[in-house]
Amino acid sequence: MKKSFTAFLIFAILLSFASVTVLESEEDWGFYAHRKLNRLAVFTLPPQMMPLFKSEIEYLSAHAVDPDRRRYATPHEGPRHFIDIDAWGSFPYSNLPRDWNEALGKFSSVSLIDRCIDSDSPDTTVIYFPYIPWDEEVEKEKNSTGEYSDLLELGYRKFIDANVVSNFYSAPWEFQVSQWESMADSLNLTGSDCHFFLVEDQLSNYGILPYYLPIIQSQLTNAMRRGDKSRILRYAADIGHYIGDAHVPLHTTINYNGQLTGQKGIHAFWESRIPELFATEFDLIVGRAQYIENKQDFFWDIILDTHLKVDSVLSIEQHLRDTYPEDAQMCFDQRLSQTVQQPCKEFAEAYEKMMNGMVERQMRKTIFAIGSAWYTAWVDAGQPNLTGEEIVGDDSHLLESDSLRIYYQRGSIYGREHLND
Ligand SMILES: [Zn+2]
Repeated sequence: MKKSFTAFLIFAILLSFASVTVLESEEDWGFYAHRKLNRLAVFTLPPQMMPLFKSEIEYLSAHAVDPDRRRYATPHEGPRHFIDIDAWGSFPYSNLPRDWNEALGKFSSVSLIDRCIDSDSPDTTVIYFPYIPWDEEVEKEKNSTGEYSDLLELGYRKFIDANVVSNFYSAPWEFQVSQWESMADSLNLTGSDCHFFLVEDQLSNYGILPYYLPIIQSQLTNAMRRGDKSRILRYAADIGHYIGDAHVPLHTTINYNGQLTGQKGIHAFWESRIPELFATEFDLIVGRAQYIENKQDFFWDIILDTHLKVDSVLSIEQHLRDTYPEDAQMCFDQRLSQTVQQPCKEFAEAYEKMMNGMVERQMRKTIFAIGSAWYTAWVDAGQPNLTGEEIVGDDSHLLESDSLRIYYQRGSIYGREHLND
């Protein structure tokens, strides 16, 4: 470990002298793969959906990358692209509720704020801090305290549903004690106007991808119901992106760039380099989209299936690094005007082959899942007519895309830089 770090340092210094850039993933699946996945998903759809989806295939493909650009515009975007599911214990992580409201309640902390003596520097007492396996493992200061079941007995879920979930984007949340009467009662604080409850989200840090997918699925369905063409296209392009992310194993683990196992750079290797080199040779024809009965289960099953591949992604790369001729692993390439260093084509080919075509299989699954999500939204909306005249809407989504591009070009990102996009 130490040796490889020293080697890395020397390597990094050499590189900086040579003014060579090591190419890291700026964008997940690479912009190239996301665009291709959305494009190919169109061909899984029934003929009735084609008037809109086929004629707007360029839009759906081009805007497959908008969610990544949005990460430069808002801090809320980053966590939608991943879930560090192994932070939550061990497979299948059943301590992590699959329902968003329940998970947000269970994995928020609750404190009592006392402003009675000094309103500017109040006393704070933690009532509940959830047990987060990874947090405790790395011995962060925040150790769990309090019992979730005790909160439930005091009507916590009703309080969360009524106050927190609907105000998600205005966190952290501070409440009058009167807003959670049973808790105020239990603390003998009924009627106090100088005590407050502070609720803080401890969940989103680890990513919310599978929670966000059903939300955007219902947004897409509603847009279909309204016949709002611009929103249909925007949400369809968006959900294609997130479904793509859900099929990338390194989007489901704390070790998202191999940084915990001395494999930094593996993120871009798997999800950008391999598709860019070989996607034109992949067999990506996947047949007809299927109706999704249970959306929540469908999206969670994808995440769990994807996560099971993390071990192979990491161990096979490590095995190749150890056994493949060292001077044939990384190659210098011209990319635009820069010289970049990235895994050599033959090395990448060996990796994909040893993974038994995993990147190709994940791309196939993604295309099928995107098509199925679009198709399901259309069925749930009552199979609206998607031909010209009946479709209403405006071009506001185009304006948003322009402003996203500006944020992106300005270039400072919220959350993890160039990873888990
Ligand atoms: Zn992403």
